[in-house]
Amino acid sequence: MASLTVETWQCDACGKESITKLQGCGGCKSVYYCDKKCQQQHWNAGHKNECKVMKAQKSQEKFETRTKKGDLQLEEYNLKDARKNHKRALKAAEEMKDELQAELSAKLSSSSSRSKKKRKRRR
Ligand SMILES: [Zn+2]
Ligand SMILES: [Zn+2]
Repeated sequence: MASLTVETWQCDACGKESITKLQGCGGCKSVYYCDKKCQQQHWNAGHKNECKVMKAQKSQEKFETRTKKGDLQLEEYNLKDARKNHKRALKAAEEMKDELQAELSAKLSSSSSRSKKKRKRRR
């Protein structure tokens, strides 16, 4: 029989390793902790600033890879898998929206107010 590979989880706050799955951060799901105390500690140590960025980054990566994969499968007429990947890409885009919405709406409002001025001058 093949030997079993033991997957270990490492706490991002204290570095302790565990063979049971650790609790992930509810926001970004990119970091893991052995308990709530470790999570709190890491959050105050700076993860509160990283969390949003990591979450947005992760969603964007997911969005891009899923879109690419789906497009490729579409070309191969693998419609079932293509649809699955495009659905996942869409979900990632929705997750991303929250984090990027403020930034995007700021960009949009500044560009639309500029175009409004132009429109007003037209008769
Ligand atoms: Zn820990
Ligand atoms: Zn996080």
